This record gives sequence, structure tokens and C-alpha cells, in this order.
Amino acid sequence: MKLDGKIAVVTGGSKGIGAGIAKALAAEGATVVVNYASSRSDAERVVAEIELRGGKALAAQADMSNSADVVNLFSTVRSEYGRLDILVNNAGVAVFEMIEDLTEDAFHKQFNLNVLGYLLAIREASKLFGSSGSIINISSILSTDPYLASSVYAATKGAVDTLTFALAREMGGRGIRVNSILPGHTNTPGTSGNFTGELGKKLLAGTPLGRFGEPEDIARLAVFLASDDANWVTGESIRSSGGVRGVGY
Ligand code: NAP
Repeated sequence: MKLDGKIAVVTGGSKGIGAGIAKALAAEGATVVVNYASSRSDAERVVAEIELRGGKALAAQADMSNSADVVNLFSTVRSEYGRLDILVNNAGVAVFEMIEDLTEDAFHKQFNLNVLGYLLAIREASKLFGSSGSIINISSILSTDPYLASSVYAATKGAVDTLTFALAREMGGRGIRVNSILPGHTNTPGTSGNFTGELGKKLLAGTPLGRFGEPEDIARLAVFLASDDANWVTGESIRSSGGVRGVGY
């Protein structure tokens, strides 16, 4: 297996893309810490599914936008496993609003989780990596192709791609690779309802492969980036989107 003996943390691993990535990393032999914010039962279901297939996992609560919670999460990783090999920054939130409706609350909610949360996790993870490591930041195709009413969310994902490149340079000397994945329209609890009606038809029409993504589509790329197959790949922002370019909605 590609990730035998590796220790991984997946933030927001209780649902959607994060759950898909947690299961895929575990299926390749990694022991996975499945982080969640409030859905303990969902996280425990992901852990149970992994264990049923012979894998190893642990559910761990932490609000990734809260510095003290982030520190606690990684101190649990230290006490349970003593080190870390893979960090997947996935927990994110989106608020779609036109600029006239912008509130500071919505700005801080998105930047605190989608950007500050990723940076805090990387800061703590960096103390646990040995002579190599893989950090995978979940960005979005909106970082380059923003929808209407997505200015703040799209800006958080642009920041994710920039910090990915910056930290790839900073951490490369320690053998730590940092990459981001830009998912396209992917079916998850977070997007349920968004891909129906007229908007759904437009989004599908703009997707060359003619279907929405599933968490497993994103997870396969995450396994590649986490594994030695990608050991010369860092600082990259890679789309997994069915070919979407220039959404324009
Ligand atoms: P989702 O279905 O809404 O799941 C969100 C996950 O994040 C849940 O596990 C949730 O945990 C966790 N979470 C939320 N707030 C958190 C916090 N403060 N601290 C820790 N965990 C928290 O989301 P998704 O659609 O899979 O999206 C996952 C990532 O992919 C996000 O970064 C998103 O921006 C990105 N993305 C998604 C799409 C898409 O089409 N789905 C496209 C591009 C990019 P609880 O269950 O405990 O609340």
C-alpha cells in the first residue's frame, strides 16, 4: 500500500470531501485522525467504516478556526502517535453574497477557517513532521474562476493557493511538500441543493466530463499527492474538476 505506516490528519473529515479523503488515505495504509467541528457521530461513522475495512483511525474534535483547539488537536496527535506525515487542510466554509450584503462577520468566518485555520494547522503540524511530509490544502476552482457573489470565498481560496506556493518554498528544505487541490463542483452535504435547477444545468453544461464530482474523485488526487509517487511535486495547485474553465456565473 502506498501510505503504509504513515500518520495523517484530515481536517473536516466527518463529511463530504474530507470524509472521502480520510477513507482513501486509510485504504492505502495510513492511520488517519478524522477531525470534526460538531458532527461527532458523522466522524465516528467515518472511523467505523475505516476500521471495518481493516484500517486505523481516530475521531478528534477541534474548531480549526480556533487557535487553542488547533494546538490541542496536534498535541493529541503527538501523544497518540509521536509524529505526523500527512496534513490535509480541508475544513472550509462558503458564504455566497453580493458585495452590497457584505458583513465583517461573514468575512471573518470565512477567512478565519479557510485561511487562518490552514496556517495554524500547518504551524502545529510542522513541529511534528520528521525529515519529510506532505501538506495538501483544499482550495477551489473559484480561486481562479469566481462565481457571482463569491468574492470573499474566492479570495480565501486565492490565498490558499498563494500560501501553498509560499510554504512550499519555505518548507522544501525540510523535505516537506505543500500542494493544493482545486475541486470543481463536487456532491457533498455542503453543496446539496446547489447543483439543482437552472444553476445545476449551467454548471453541468460547463463541465466537459458531463457530471458533478464525488469526494472519491478528489480523494484519488489527494492519495497521489500524499504518496511517494508525488515526491518531486511541490508548490502546485492542481484542478480536479471534470475540466471546468471560466465558470462565469
Ligand atoms: P462539507 O460537506 O460542508 O463538510 C465540511 C466539513 O468541514 C465537515 O466535516 C465539517 O465538520 C468541517 N468543518 C466545518 N467547520 C469546521 C471548523 N470550524 N473546524 C473543523 N471542521 C469544520 O464541505 P465540502 O463540500 O466537503 O468541502 C470541503 C472543502 O472543499 C472546503 O474547503 C471547500 O471550500 C472545498 N471545496 C468544495 C467544493 C464542493 O463542490 N463541494 C468545491 C471546491 C472546494 P462538522 O461536520 O463537524 O461540521
